[in-house]
Amino acid sequence: MTAAPALSVEKTLPIALELNAAQSKSAHLQNVAAGSVITLAARANCELWLDLKHKDNGSRVFASKMPLEWSTIVFITEAGEYLLYFHNRGDEACSFKGELKVSLATGGENSIQQQLRRLSEQLQTVFTMDAIDYQLVDCDTSNSYARGSKVLLCRQHLETLRDNAPDTEAAQHLIFFTLMHETAHVLLTQWRYPFSNNEDVVDEFGVVLTRLMKRDAAIEAQAGYFEEQPSKSEYEHILENDDRHTLSIQRARNLRGWAADKTLLARWMPFLIPHIETDHLKALRDTPNKALGEMITAELEARETALAQ
Ligand SMILES: [Zn+2]
Repeated sequence: MTAAPALSVEKTLPIALELNAAQSKSAHLQNVAAGSVITLAARANCELWLDLKHKDNGSRVFASKMPLEWSTIVFITEAGEYLLYFHNRGDEACSFKGELKVSLATGGENSIQQQLRRLSEQLQTVFTMDAIDYQLVDCDTSNSYARGSKVLLCRQHLETLRDNAPDTEAAQHLIFFTLMHETAHVLLTQWRYPFSNNEDVVDEFGVVLTRLMKRDAAIEAQAGYFEEQPSKSEYEHILENDDRHTLSIQRARNLRGWAADKTLLARWMPFLIPHIETDHLKALRDTPNKALGEMITAELEARETALAQ
């Protein structure tokens, strides 16, 4: 017997692009193994559309318009070659001078854990927070958990989501929303928010995080998934197990409401501002929302005063 060859190592690809108006370019990702996790982080001076597709069958695993600064994480369930497209849908040439990091993990679960660790690092560039320890574990239930600063992502849960999602893209979204929900538990606990165990508050903050990471489609996918859960047997389960979750049908309605709520981020900002890193706050200062802009300016001034003392 010979050892299995290492198909591909984890890579970080810096990508700098110049895109004319209405121009698209693509990057070719080879030998992506099932179970890989791709993390993307970038700073750019224009808003690009990103589109990740399986090369052979054309199935889309991710598509979104990205803000100037963003990071996101994509789980690959199907092995193969992938094409990552960058579309400039604007009227002007776009100089993508910022750094784009694409990390591919193809070495199985250790790499998934490394990629999950990177998610924590990405969150830490935005928020003042302790590192979150994301772990892939075996559980006897199909669920995931937040414990202190740990997120336990159960393999059984991932399998259930993959088995019940209508397609690969939806499965991606469900896993992502699960991560954001558990991340919301952890952050609210770290920041001593009194409702860190209130599942409705956590769902709402999970939507805030998902929208901040520009994965809005994950919210709709999760709402659709909740809607499919049969209410009667679920109600019995809740009674028997002292489950704190609201019935799925209501969670679906809540999620859709927050996804469409134009005031959601502004409502959360007074709570979030003290926990946002200074560089990010400076970027947010020029918001068209005047009250919010004043709040951010006041926070930045308070930090400078504290530093000067
Ligand atoms: Zn929860």
